[in-house]
Amino acid sequence: MAAARTLRIGLIPGDGIGREVIPAGRRILEALPSSLGLKFSFVDLEAGFDTFKQTGVALPDRTVDTLKKECDGALFGAVSSPTTATKGYSSPIVALRKKLDLYANVRPVKSVAPSPAYPEPIDLVTVRENTEDLYVKEERTYDTPDGPVAEAIKRISTRASTRIATMAGEIAARRARVRQSLGDNSKQALVTVTHKSNVLPQTDGLFRSASFAALAQQRFKDAGVKVEEQIIDSMLYKLVLQPAYYDVIVAPNLYGDLLSDTAAALVKSLGLVPSANVGDGFAIGEPCHGSAPDIAGKGISNPIATLRSVALMLDFLNEEEAAARIYKAVDGNLAEGKLLTPDMGGKARTDEVVEDVIRRL
Ligand code: ATP
Ligand code: MG
Repeated sequence: MAAARTLRIGLIPGDGIGREVIPAGRRILEALPSSLGLKFSFVDLEAGFDTFKQTGVALPDRTVDTLKKECDGALFGAVSSPTTATKGYSSPIVALRKKLDLYANVRPVKSVAPSPAYPEPIDLVTVRENTEDLYVKEERTYDTPDGPVAEAIKRISTRASTRIATMAGEIAARRARVRQSLGDNSKQALVTVTHKSNVLPQTDGLFRSASFAALAQQRFKDAGVKVEEQIIDSMLYKLVLQPAYYDVIVAPNLYGDLLSDTAAALVKSLGLVPSANVGDGFAIGEPCHGSAPDIAGKGISNPIATLRSVALMLDFLNEEEAAARIYKAVDGNLAEGKLLTPDMGGKARTDEVVEDVIRRL
């Protein structure tokens, strides 16, 4: 048997319930069966608003250096954002994405059970470009005789569009592979490229053409990945009316922001939706929820978003089998519905949910 692969994982709990869900993420990794040939080592790292209050820095250099030099991947909990602008404070996860060139934000959304609004299962992934578009934050205001005018730069590059679309193609191919291995032929592999090139033929037009070029690769065709496009407004309309149709949706930064929150709302609980910040060879798993100060410290936060974020991180570290185990164990817990946290209408505590998922691994 091949020697076990050891992955070193940085643990960044951040603030609030981040301190409850990140230990849950660690426990699930430690509980993976040894037959998978995987070992983990962990390093605790600081970042967040509490860190800022204590040290004056939200993202210490040590955190960034350790992730760069030692780690294969990381888990990030949540950070509280101050309600009013706080001098010197900026979001550490936004800074981390930049420093590690984590150019994609990937968010899978999956329904727990059929609902009257959505009788068909929802199982889709949004893939949001994370480095450019309006987020280059180049704004200016100038005076005119009719009053001040403000404008912002929307920058779209061939390089960033190509790499995000390539990632979407890879995700679609992986999902097709996983469905095939489960004998599930409910859905064909599909990437939907979304944009507004009818209004913005240069910027969004470039995103569109670079995406189609990237997705035309033979390896995606061989994996059965179909590619289509949809203008962002009709995309959102159809997403709300018919979410079961979608598989992988790729978007430039701003549309991706709107799309990923809309998609998360389809399954209602913030406590269920994972995400990953992904670059070449590195991934940070991060639950979509915030620090939830209203329930922090009570031991009742829902760990599912984090457990799924762990699995998502493993997918991007090419440990699909380990990831699949976690997804399946989580789905089992939700399907049975006996041990759920209060946000899901249950009475279970965070630890009890984690233990139930571990039993199912
Ligand atoms: P932040 O400023 O950190 O985003 P927030 O007040 O916006 O904090 P969120 O974390 O975004 O809080 O959560 C919004 C609501 O959803 C809160 O009522 C919170 O308790 C609930 N919630 C979020 N995540 C979870 C979770 N993992 N388990 C249970 N409830 C959650
Ligand atoms: Mg919030």
